[in-house]
Amino acid sequence: MLTLTNVDVSYGKIAAVRRVSLHVDQGEIVALIGANGAGKTTLLSAVSGLIRPGGGSVTFDGADITRAQPDAIVRMGLCHVPERRLVFKPMSVTDNLLLGTYTRRGRASRADIARDMDAVHAMFPVLKDRARQPAGTLSGGEQQMLAIGRALMAGPRMLLLDEPGMGLAPTVCRDIFRRVLELRSQRGLTVLLVEQNAKSALSVADRAYVLETGRVILQGLSSELLANRDVQRAYLGRD
Ligand code: ATP
Repeated sequence: MLTLTNVDVSYGKIAAVRRVSLHVDQGEIVALIGANGAGKTTLLSAVSGLIRPGGGSVTFDGADITRAQPDAIVRMGLCHVPERRLVFKPMSVTDNLLLGTYTRRGRASRADIARDMDAVHAMFPVLKDRARQPAGTLSGGEQQMLAIGRALMAGPRMLLLDEPGMGLAPTVCRDIFRRVLELRSQRGLTVLLVEQNAKSALSVADRAYVLETGRVILQGLSSELLANRDVQRAYLGRD
């Protein structure tokens, strides 16, 4: 469904992503793990059109999106849930969710949007309970649910999730990852997940890529990576 071939991204002279090739098949949950500064966020931004790759190609559903605009990429069904959630804090929870429908103007009817809002409320009931509250008053975990809910309102087939567990207590983090599994089982969503917490990521993902200083240094099934001594030492805190 998503294929990256030899993608390079630089910030001036800093090469943040170097010749990265990876693929995510339909219905898969794939994780991208790596330390701070490994290039994970940069890679997601290159996929969603927020940053232009300097080289290589990105295809989604067979279409070349390497130089497509971010809004066009969302319209194709690929939606990015950014790091640190980036909800609009003074706006209400419901208005944040409705912003997710912006790219569907003229394509989705009011009934479609109402149905999707009901589905988001069913998945994250707290977003219904807090509908009128400013988004900034939600807890970190609730803001993460709102950020995912907002992406779902765009009607995606694939989500790019950037560190959904960041700064959350372990139980809240586990709850978010459970929802990610539900998104796949209930909606058939495909997910590329970036996570610094390798253990959490490998517990939900089918497969993973390990990124180090902008390069893929290892890839495999999550079960294989969990059993890999180097991964255990570098990312799982085991000797
Ligand atoms: P983290 O988990 O800390 O978010 P990451 O793996 O997502 O890290 P990136 O944020 O993609 O890593 O950063 C990759 C490299 O690119 C780092 O060396 C970083 O300093 C650099 N970088 C990121 N954004 C910019 C920017 N806007 N301008 C210049 N350099 C940047």
